[in-house]
Parts: sequence; structure tokens; C-alpha cells
Amino acid sequence: MATLLITGADLAGGGAQDLLVEDGRIVEVGTIRSAKGADVLDADGLVALPGLVDLHTHLREPGREDAETIASGSAAAAVGGYTAILAMANTDPVTDTAEAAERILDLGRAAGLVDVVPVGAVTKGLAGEELAELGLMHRSRAGVTVFSDDGHCVADSRVMRRALEYVRAFGGVVSQHAQDPHLAGPHACAHEGELSGRLGLPGWPGIAEESIVARDVMLARHTGSRVHVAHVSTAGTVEVIRWAKAQGIAVTAEVTPHHLVLTTDLLTGYDPTYKVNPPLRPQEDVDALRAALADGTIDAVATDHAPHARHDKEHAFVDAAFGMLGLETALSVVSDVMVGSGLLDWAGVARVMSQAPARIAGLTSHGQALAEGSPAHLTLVDPTATVTVDRSASLSLSRNNPWHGRTLQGAVHATVFGGRVTAQKGAIA
Ligand SMILES: [Zn+2]
Repeated sequence: MATLLITGADLAGGGAQDLLVEDGRIVEVGTIRSAKGADVLDADGLVALPGLVDLHTHLREPGREDAETIASGSAAAAVGGYTAILAMANTDPVTDTAEAAERILDLGRAAGLVDVVPVGAVTKGLAGEELAELGLMHRSRAGVTVFSDDGHCVADSRVMRRALEYVRAFGGVVSQHAQDPHLAGPHACAHEGELSGRLGLPGWPGIAEESIVARDVMLARHTGSRVHVAHVSTAGTVEVIRWAKAQGIAVTAEVTPHHLVLTTDLLTGYDPTYKVNPPLRPQEDVDALRAALADGTIDAVATDHAPHARHDKEHAFVDAAFGMLGLETALSVVSDVMVGSGLLDWAGVARVMSQAPARIAGLTSHGQALAEGSPAHLTLVDPTATVTVDRSASLSLSRNNPWHGRTLQGAVHATVFGGRVTAQKGAIA
């Protein structure tokens, strides 16, 4: 394999160094004058981060390849700075068997742009009743470690308890989409408050999330197992997680880029682009989520990248599909809002977008320090670049991009996956 010399990169804000990459590994860090036969990537002025890891990606293959395929989602991930993405199980068919998980793994390898890591369903068919083949999925070639019925909540306390007990045996984790279906039913689509009443939209109250998270952290304590809270959206959930961590309960949590910036006021125009589950919340919640990400209560940023075909998204607000794109813009959003405000430095971005998600998912070859011997998965960021998001430039097959037209500071310059440059300046290399 070719040798790659990356010159003058600021290692997660820790000072400029040169990096020599051979056979997919970083073999030297320091001042490297030259390397015979190496491709040179000039990273002067760029920040190098360990390759980004997304705990929460929806690829639509199998079943809805018109909205996203594993290949198109991998391309969007690579230009977004990602080297590993966890593919949620709510495809058609659902990833609830070892064979289905291995198929996702193989399609990801065939695309070859990022590690596509299958998430296994907690329950068969995401029906919330009978546990899926958790052990078989874990023991398969796919080595599934993260299980989630995402899109649905594992609402039955007994099923959740059994799932936690089961995955504990092999160090797995259950990622919960926390939504009490009695408090926020299938039509709930707007933060419950004065605005949802005025707009006539079915309310999705914060307590529907908070009550499930409170139950789940107690189940995690009771079972001695590990729970992960997907897309935290309220200040109340942050309080529960902060308390649980203080008790030593094994809970981790993620926040999406959109919940760090966008607020429920955007719903006044009934634009389905802003319809997402959990819904956009008021500014007080956004402020609490930013603070929680900065202080470590929330461990990771995860995109909840949710591509949808036009004919599923362009409907009256109540009928449109839930979800927004996120892979290509996540780093710029985090840079703009968290680094720009001083809440995180670049070492902090490395923590929340690479190290913590890799640790939560048990991915030992990702989230490593940029040091000799580490796998050469890295993301080069230009902190001074400004980007104006253009949804038509996306490599995703879908266009439901809530950032369209916004200008953000900080952009992915290049992504290196296994020693190979996979993307540069918004295009596949
Ligand atoms: Zn979800």
C-alpha cells in the first residue's frame, strides 16, 4: 500500500507535527523531512482529529435504496469526516439476525469508504415483544455490540430488563430511543407546549423521554449492564443522566447536531424538513444540551442521519416522515456552535466525535490517539473555512437537509481511512 506523509497538522489542538502513514498505520510522528515515494498531504493550518465515529446512522439498505444505500451513505460519511458509522437496524428487513448483520457488514466493506458497523435490533422486527438473536448477532462475523430498536422505544420494562441482562454477558450495550408511547404516541411530532397548541400539531412532551431514561438508568443499575441514551433532547433528561453518572451507573448518552442548534420555533412554517424524532425543543433545552456536552454528561455527538425520499418528506407536516440528514454537516455544526463559542476545544471535539463513540461501540481500531502504531483513521479539519450548506451538493441520495443555506465555520478538509485518503474538500478522493 502507498505511503502517505501528512505535513504540519495540528494534532487535536496539541501542536503541529508531521505524520507518516504506512500499510494503514501511523508509523512515525514528529518532524519528518521527506519520505521516499510517499504521497504528500499538506496539512499546514489544519487540525487533525482521530477519524470521526457516528453512533447513529440510518442507511436505507435493504428496503429503501431510493433514499440511501450503504454506498451512498458511506460516501456522505467520508466527506463528513467519518471513518466508522453504526448502521441502525430499522431497515426492511430489520437487522435482527446474524445473517442480516453480516450482510450489512459485507456491503459496507464492498463500498470501502468507512467501517459500516451494524447495530442489531433488540426485538424481532422491532416489535418490542420478543428478543432478537442478540447472542448470535454478537458471535457472528459482524460482532454486533450495540443493539437498538431505534425509531421505536423498547417500552416494555420487562423486555428492556431482559435485553440488558442478555447483553451484559458479552459487554454489549442497548441504545434506547426513549419515548414512552403512551405519553408521546405515533402522531406526536412537535415539542408539547404553547406553540404546538397554537399550530395544532400533536404534542411530544419532554417527560415522554425523561421518564423512560429514568426507568432505564435504574434498570441498568439493577442489572449491572450498560445503557446508552440515543438523541437526548431535553434538559430534564440531562438531569437524570447527570444523577445516574454520579451514582456510578453505566449510562452513556449522545446528542445530535440539530438538537444543539435548531429550536421548535422553526415549526411555525410547517416545513417538514424540521420534523424529527425526538422533536426540536425550546432554547432552554438547547442551552442545557450544549452545556452537558461540554461537561461530559453527554458523551458523544451522533448524527441520527435519516435520509428520506422526496415523496415521503414532502407532505403536510403531520404526515411527513421523521428525520433529517446529518453526516456531511455534523463536524461543521459542532465546530461552529461548540468550538466557536469556546465550549469545546479541538481535543474536546476529538473526544465527543471519535474517542467516546468508539469506546461506547467497542470499536478498538477507532478513536485512538494520533500516535505511532495507531490505525491511520483520521480527519483533517480546516477551522478557518466557512461553508454555506447546499443540499444539492450532497452525496446522500436524499435532500432533507435542515442546514441548507446556513453558513458554518469549520469544515472537513480530508478524511483518511485505513491509510487511504477517502475524501477531500467535499468529494470522494
Ligand atoms: Zn431514534
